[in-house]
Amino acid sequence: MSLADFKYADTIHRCFRCGYCKFPVNWKDVNNCPPYARFRMESYSCGGRLWLTRAWLNDQIKWTEHLAEILYSCTTCKNCVIKCPLRFNVDIVNMVIAARGEMVESGRLPQAVKKFLENIELYGNPYGESRAKRGEWANRMGVEKYHGQEYLLYVGCTGSYDTRAQKAARALAEIMMRAGVSFGVLGPEETCDGNEVYKLGESGLFEVLAENNIQKYKNTGAQKIVTFSPHAYNAMKNYYHEYGGSFEVFHYTQFLHGLIENGKINNLRCPNMKITFHDPCFLGRWNEEYEAPRAILRAVEGVEFTEMGKNKESALCCGGGGGNFQIDLLGGSENSPARRRAREAYETGANVLAVACPKCLVMLNDAVESEELANRLEVLDISEIVIKGLNI
Ligand code: SF4
Ligand code: SF4
Repeated sequence: MSLADFKYADTIHRCFRCGYCKFPVNWKDVNNCPPYARFRMESYSCGGRLWLTRAWLNDQIKWTEHLAEILYSCTTCKNCVIKCPLRFNVDIVNMVIAARGEMVESGRLPQAVKKFLENIELYGNPYGESRAKRGEWANRMGVEKYHGQEYLLYVGCTGSYDTRAQKAARALAEIMMRAGVSFGVLGPEETCDGNEVYKLGESGLFEVLAENNIQKYKNTGAQKIVTFSPHAYNAMKNYYHEYGGSFEVFHYTQFLHGLIENGKINNLRCPNMKITFHDPCFLGRWNEEYEAPRAILRAVEGVEFTEMGKNKESALCCGGGGGNFQIDLLGGSENSPARRRAREAYETGANVLAVACPKCLVMLNDAVESEELANRLEVLDISEIVIKGLNI
């Protein structure tokens, strides 16, 4: 493939590397592009990545594993899309995804990316865990299998297999049961939603996942889907319609907010919680939902809410987007985005860092431990805060 054949050949050169996109919208820091924050080198910034991509497509530099890692270190957090002042900004992440697509086509990928995609193809999840284990998170809870109830709860790979995220998935299911919601899960028949596969540039595998999932949901009669993860929410809401999937999709914070407004959940109380909230990129910047999680926290008596300096569209990504939760090209340093974000949360004086994404939950939980803040700052999913509020 030459640059001339690249979908964005006419626009990729428009980045003039001003560096604005390293900042958040509110200018509060110069480290809001996660790979740049981690490595502090221009080649890992958005502009550097675009220039390297262009040079590679133009045959001015050769493919190396390091070049591929620079391309795959983008977490697709969309900070650059929102911050870049030029009109081509809407396509910045699309350019990165398209360039990754060229790498997928050529078969030259970082080993971790190859493994990630292989696992999803073989097992339906990036962990390489058996499909049969997928529903075990709900063992002995009494969660029904989906058979036409009003809502299908889609838990996703992280909530199904990661032991920390499983706890939050159980909290969500328990809340829905206690609120009398008619819902079920697919258990071992659930498969990866494909959001990260799409972002990693494997459009063929994404198409297979989307088509199979849509067919499965249609066969069961599902029309309303509640997703535990904002990544799945993004894929199902924004991409599945291209493959004939026209479902009503809710992120679970939107759904819980509705239950609170309808009086199905009430009398929430969590004394002595000073909470700050980390906006997940795929709920916030990708889908502009900033209010629902905050409205839930406001409904809990005893909660004192405090914002981080970088919040909503200015939030720093935890570093787990675009497949980096598994391929982990940004970890292993005090400059990792998750550790930076943990420190930002701690500086607010909060004793709880609330999240609304299983990937953010695991990333920030680990980061708080690495920062030795675990006894002063607890990382809790909003579902876990609501269940604590119901239990008091
Ligand atoms: S993407 Fe936009 S903001 Fe970022 S360096 Fe290029 S021109 Fe500047
Ligand atoms: S999407 Fe996020 S990680 Fe990727 S280049 Fe833009 S700011 Fe950096």
